[in-house]
Formats: sequence, C-alpha cells, structure tokens
Amino acid sequence: MNTAYLALGSNIEPRIDYLEQAINRLNTEDNIEVVRKSSIYETEPVGYTNQEQFLNMVVEVKTSKQPLELLETCQHIEKTLGRIREIKWGPRTVDLDILLYNQESIKMEQLEVPHPRMHERAFVLIPLAELHNRIVIPTRNKSVSEILEATSSQDKEGVVKWVQKLGEDE
Ligand code: ATP
Ligand code: MG
Ligand code: MG
Repeated sequence: MNTAYLALGSNIEPRIDYLEQAINRLNTEDNIEVVRKSSIYETEPVGYTNQEQFLNMVVEVKTSKQPLELLETCQHIEKTLGRIREIKWGPRTVDLDILLYNQESIKMEQLEVPHPRMHERAFVLIPLAELHNRIVIPTRNKSVSEILEATSSQDKEGVVKWVQKLGEDE
C-alpha cells in the first residue's frame, strides 16, 4: 500500500458540497481509501486574486494505484464535479492535487510530485501540518513544520479555520 496526500480546493458554491463529494468519490474507488482528513480552511485566493475565497483541506489516502493512475482518478473526479478550466488558477468547483506520494520524487510531463508549488502555499502547508507536521518534502529536504516556520505571517493569516454556521446554506 502507498500513502499519498491530496490537496482539495473549491471556490464555487456550494464549496463544502464539492469537497465532500470529491472525498466520497475517492472512497468509492476500489483502490483508494481516505484514512484521515484535515480541518477545512477558508483561504484568500493566491495567484489570480480577483475571485472568491476558497475552502481548502488535505486528505491522507492509502492506495494501490500508481501515481499516474491516481492523477487520472483525481482529474476524472474534477471533471465529473463540473470543473471547467478557463483562467489559470481561476475559479473552480474542485481542484484535486497530489502533494506527496510516499517519499517519491517524480518528474513527468503530466505529473510532478511533490507538488512543485506546495512549499510556498500556506493553504496547503497548514492543513498538511495538521495531519503530519514532521513529514519531509523530499525535493526541499525539509519538514512541513520547518517550511511553515519560514512562511510569512501575512500568508498564514490568509488561512483561517472554517466553521459551518448553523442554518446557513453553503
Ligand atoms: P497548481 O498546479 O498550481 O495548483 P491547478 O491545480 O489549478 O494549479 P490544474 O489545472 O488543476 O492546475 O492542473 C494543471 C496540470 O497540472 C494537470 O493537467 C496535471 O497534469 C498537472 N500536474 C502536475 N503535477 C501535478 C500534481 N502533483 N497534482 C495534480 N496535477 C498535477
Ligand atoms: Mg492546484
Ligand atoms: Mg490541480
């Protein structure tokens, strides 16, 4: 069995439903089991900033799928949940990225693991640290907590634990 960490993000309503449906679909796959989930965070958009806030989280999965098969599954789930790619880093129903796959470093045309931008993204590092703060990002040779220590407080302040408000439709 392999252990992978996946980052989920959504900034089109109903955001929480998209995250939950993506997790359900991962679990429906024969060869994937979602074993742990981080809290959900509400985060400021990064990269293309003229868009709604995101909900982000990280899940740990056990899988017998190889990295490319796992990517294919993630992309299939994005597609069935209505993801349309228009603007780079723009609004999306759901984004499903592979952060880590065991401790492997993979560099292929379609797939780079560890995710090449994860170390500069507080919205990925904070939920990942909740699950495993000592895990090492092989390409950086540093643990998630070490990288977070070096992340600016401004970036970290843009990532806030999200609590669903009673009676509020998300
Ligand atoms: P970012 O990758 O900066 O988070 P994004 O998630 O919005 O941006 P997508 O449009 O979801 O980007 O994906 C673009 C391409 O990235 C995909 O077609 C996929 O082949 C490639 N890719 C490379 N490495 C990964 C990875 N680790 N996880 C998911 N996709 C990846
Ligand atoms: Mg992404
Ligand atoms: Mg993606």
